Amino acid sequence: MIGSADVVVIGSGAFGASVAYHLARRGLRVVVLERSALASQTSPRAAGLTSQVRATPALTRLAQRAVVKLAAFTAETGQPLRFTQSGALKIARTERDAEQLAREVTRGAEVGVPIDFVTVADARRRLPILGERGIVAVTWSPTDCNVEPSELPIGYCRAAEKLGAVLLAHMPATGFEVGASGVEGVRTPGGTIATRTVVDAAGAWARLIAAGLGAPLPVVATRHQLLITEPIPGVGPEFPIARVIDANVYVRHERGGLMLGGYEPDPLQLDMAALPPSFEIRELSLDIEVLWRLARSVSEQFPIFQDPTIRVAEHRGGLPTLTTDDRYLVGPLPGVAGAWVMSGCCVGGLSVSPALGEAMAEWIVDGAPRLDLADISVARFAGHELDETALRERCRHAYATHYRAGSDR
Ligand SMILES: Cc1cc2nc3c(=O)[nH]c(=O)nc-3n(C[C@H](O)[C@H](O)[C@H](O)COP(=O)(O)OP(=O)(O)OC[C@H]3O[C@@H](n4cnc5c(N)ncnc54)[C@H](O)[C@@H]3O)c2cc1C
Repeated sequence: MIGSADVVVIGSGAFGASVAYHLARRGLRVVVLERSALASQTSPRAAGLTSQVRATPALTRLAQRAVVKLAAFTAETGQPLRFTQSGALKIARTERDAEQLAREVTRGAEVGVPIDFVTVADARRRLPILGERGIVAVTWSPTDCNVEPSELPIGYCRAAEKLGAVLLAHMPATGFEVGASGVEGVRTPGGTIATRTVVDAAGAWARLIAAGLGAPLPVVATRHQLLITEPIPGVGPEFPIARVIDANVYVRHERGGLMLGGYEPDPLQLDMAALPPSFEIRELSLDIEVLWRLARSVSEQFPIFQDPTIRVAEHRGGLPTLTTDDRYLVGPLPGVAGAWVMSGCCVGGLSVSPALGEAMAEWIVDGAPRLDLADISVARFAGHELDETALRERCRHAYATHYRAGSDR
């Protein structure tokens, strides 16, 4: 068992693996602790979509940088990643949402993300399964893309290992040594690893890890699901991603069929402390009726999901963490020198992880990231503590209005 490290990263999902890789690239001695198999929990279950135009210019720049890094992932890391630059359509069915799209077009132009309105006929040329009815406005963002989610975190793990990082699977962080000047070590069943820097990238469990470090973390683990159909004639990888704002539904091509996922109004929220310590995401109970309800809510735009011959090839789900403002939660944990967190993925952590891991490594090594992360830093919640009921309700609302929250809040 390794006795010391410059940085101990807790968790080998997209967040932990990416920051570990970027820290190792800066020459630091990195240890990654993973309680389960490497990269096996929420990250490989994602949809793998990017969405570049965000609520603020800084967040848009972060998402834009992530797409540049996803496109160059194999060249940079030497690891495989299925990357499809399919572009994305965003559909407004109300005047209010059309106004939101107009703001997104302006915001995209400010930062240099290509995005503009297209006609419904143009949208249908790109996505022939799209129904015409009920659409008020549509935007087209040609540089959005999708990736194979299972390849990203394991790719970063392997690339980090090649740079000297030590990956310890089935080795949980069980506690911390914290002295007067901050973090001194991380306890594991194999012994204590002496370190001055720890990164909590524990996904659904991040709040438990932060509590172990003595810091509150206002996030709620929230179930999110998707389905993938059996192959459908005429459906191909050239199909763009499509999102319907008010319905909170996304659709994309996958393996010759269609992927559908979305954000229901009353998601299942979990208290990870109440689950057995051995709990794994594959044991999460799923409910496909949630997805059929979402599919029915877009039946005019996606009548194909009402076809009784449609067969589900895969139904999967995981536990992203939500914040009250639907933005990531990253940076130094207040009150514990040397403790950092990457959490609050808000169902958008996989796609942004390349840029976020890079920025966090800069923050840790250089004292500040090159991209401005103030919009998503832990510090923004200082002095705004909520009780558990209020926290859950605000996180539920953020989830239930994700396509509005994600771009306008
Ligand atoms: C159905 C679905 C669709 C999604 N679609 C998208 C999408 O289109 N685009 C997008 O960007 N994101 C999407 N997401 C969200 C994305 O999956 C998450 O944002 C991302 O996976 C978060 O990564 P993570 O590293 O925080 O979590 P995880 O992948 O869960 O990794 C955390 C790791 O920490 C480990 N851990 C926990 N406690 C400990 C401990 N004590 N010691 C050691 N290790 C520990 C866990 O075992 C786990 O492996 C989707 C999610 C779901 C479920």
